Amino acid sequence: MPDTWISPERVLMGPGPSNIHPRVLRAMAQQTIGHLDPHFLVLMDRVGEGLRHLFQTRNPVTLAISGTGMSGMEACLVNLVEPGDRVVVGVHGYFGERLVDLAARVGGEVTRVEVEWGRALDPAALIDAVRRVRPALVACVHAETSTGVLQPVEEIAAAAREAGALMLLDTVTSLGGVEVRIDDWGVDAAYSGTQKCVGCPSGLAPVTFSERAMERVRRRSTRVPSFYFDLALLSQYWGTERIYHHTAPANMLFGLNEALDMIAAEGLEVRYARHQRNARALRAGLQAMGLRLFADEAYWLPSLTTVCIPEGVNDLPVRQALLRDWNLEIGGGLGPVRGRVWRIGLMGHTSSPANVLYALHGLHSVLAGLGVSLPDGLAAAAQALEASA
Ligand SMILES: *Cc1c(COP(=O)(O)O)cnc(C)c1O
Repeated sequence: MPDTWISPERVLMGPGPSNIHPRVLRAMAQQTIGHLDPHFLVLMDRVGEGLRHLFQTRNPVTLAISGTGMSGMEACLVNLVEPGDRVVVGVHGYFGERLVDLAARVGGEVTRVEVEWGRALDPAALIDAVRRVRPALVACVHAETSTGVLQPVEEIAAAAREAGALMLLDTVTSLGGVEVRIDDWGVDAAYSGTQKCVGCPSGLAPVTFSERAMERVRRRSTRVPSFYFDLALLSQYWGTERIYHHTAPANMLFGLNEALDMIAAEGLEVRYARHQRNARALRAGLQAMGLRLFADEAYWLPSLTTVCIPEGVNDLPVRQALLRDWNLEIGGGLGPVRGRVWRIGLMGHTSSPANVLYALHGLHSVLAGLGVSLPDGLAAAAQALEASA
């Protein structure tokens, strides 16, 4: 074995993680400080403010859980669901299935409202279920990373509120890349992850809880079954009490603070437009190559594009060649679309015109090497970039 190990310089265009801006990496390399150091408390307040801006919320309980996106999902469900509570989950892909799984694990009685993968949930079907079931919680995924679908949520959240239910939203692949408006949409709780559009390594899960959601947590008849994810305890550490709960991963928060500063400096609207523009160019390039996009066109997700693997082409050899010869990572399909689609992410710092052109060229070249000759997508992508410059 060599006596050092060096991370290869990948272009990360899978479903996450995405590439990290050098500013964020440098911020993370600063000296560690204690989790109750006055300087650290200043940083936590800044991170809270930055997350409120990003989530577009005034919720005082807005913080970063120490853990990946799944820990955010788990934190929301262990706090908001008690055994026997009715939960309506909209399922339009793999992460909707996970919401069902986790809600059931904490004793929720789950009603699923499903739609075929690649399509958006029908708000009418969800609203109907909410009125029929009268659940305590309604949950769905905003950006389905398994299908590349962006789900409109306003109508669903309004129906939840009308029925007296809380609305929970998975924003793991939307936050930082696609507009998220927690307060305007009437969403009561949301979670995300740092490694997709926010622009950090994985390891933190931003969450936000409305006053209504915190009221539900305080009025539980059973204790939250997890100490680590107990929002009442976590909010005592993140709030003014500053009561020790766990040793916060300081360097991860250095990185998140820097990423949030960069997001604020870029501006939310400009950032969303950048994700939209690059995704448009990628899709134009893929379509010019004669490839078919998997998701329903009306709901295309800017941070992740799903493209159908052409007839007769094997998934794995293509992705392996991209990684080996091009240092380029893209994702394969999950569950029912495994081997049928590729998932190409353009998230955070990775969302750039250069990466769009690089990936299109790499894919074209790898397919040609395997004897699949397709038209070139570069001109179409460049044209799309110019059209929206
Ligand atoms: C990635 C992802 C998750 C899980 O996040 P991890 O950081 O992998 O734990 C949850 N929901 C969606 C929509 C995701 O894309």
